[in-house]
Amino acid sequence: MPLPAWVPIREDLRGFEPYGAPQIPDVINLNVNENPYGPSAEAAADIAEAVRAVATTLNRYPDREALDLRAGLADYLGHGLTMDRVWAANGSNEVMLQILQAFGGPGRTALSFAPTYSMYPEYARDTHTRWVTGQREEDFSVDVDRALALIETEQPDVVLLTSPNNPTGTALPLDTVRALVEAAPGVVVVDEAYAEFRRHGTPSALDVLEEFPRLLVTRTMSKAFALAGGRLGYVAADAAIIDALRIVRLPYHLSAVTQAAASAALRHRDELLARVDELRTTRDDLAAWLTTHGFEVADSDANFVLFGRFDDRHAIWQGLVDRGVLIRETGPDGWLRVSVGTPDEMQAFYTSLLEVTR
Ligand code: PMP
Repeated sequence: MPLPAWVPIREDLRGFEPYGAPQIPDVINLNVNENPYGPSAEAAADIAEAVRAVATTLNRYPDREALDLRAGLADYLGHGLTMDRVWAANGSNEVMLQILQAFGGPGRTALSFAPTYSMYPEYARDTHTRWVTGQREEDFSVDVDRALALIETEQPDVVLLTSPNNPTGTALPLDTVRALVEAAPGVVVVDEAYAEFRRHGTPSALDVLEEFPRLLVTRTMSKAFALAGGRLGYVAADAAIIDALRIVRLPYHLSAVTQAAASAALRHRDELLARVDELRTTRDDLAAWLTTHGFEVADSDANFVLFGRFDDRHAIWQGLVDRGVLIRETGPDGWLRVSVGTPDEMQAFYTSLLEVTR
């Protein structure tokens, strides 16, 4: 619904709809790349206990710097990282907005490579940052020479690389990251929301973080950690970059409840991450099944698979919804994205897809 004309919203925001995938009750949700397995009763009890413990102090503001949580995240990431090189916010969505607030803005440019995560242009819009996109190749990789040429002409203040990329699942080789950071005049962000799902041998940009002070690597607890509802995203970078983000953050942006829940979840990380291997295997099975059944499939290092191609992808999407399976109509024309679910959920997807496409 468009806003009524009397609402004095910024002119450049007029006509926009709030972002969001459809939320439909009573369907199998394979549309927002969640982890299909929730925390165990034991982990849930610990999270609840941690929240109970802070409940008696909710008259006080939370730790503004989230020191315990950041220390826990640094410990999880390894690579010799310390708390002063890690920053956390309400989902990596908020981290990314803070990055654009600090390093983008009026007169500045952010560059990414499409197809990619559809929220980025919104962060750019909201922070008055000029938004420029290069195109990924047919196989959804980023061609280094073309990317370098674009960096040369656009001189972006922020380059957003997504690895593994959403919605294609494509991971970037470290040589690509290196070449682009060396050439970029501003910061380069590698969004690794799906990093834990990458195939063995696929590197993380954390491996080269030491080499480049202007490199930022963002992660989230929403996917592999099965904590999408907890809203916790984070970034690793040089301590001076973290200090820049601290300038734009709202005071007390991370509630005491969020910090307690996320820290408790981190203490259970072995259990929460235990299903990642299984989800990887299911992802590979899903890709193989789709290929065997004649669909085109993009190689995926994430917990979803982009597949196609369809003359009328909306009809396929709708046919699946009608059968109680919700996937995502996103990515280049003709393609659809399905998240990795439980074996039963995958079976329901297979059965429905065959019915709809036959
Ligand atoms: N980056 C990418 C590439 C994503 O796909 C998502 C979520 N779909 C996010 C960031 C944001 O995740 P969150 O805010 O839940 O951490």
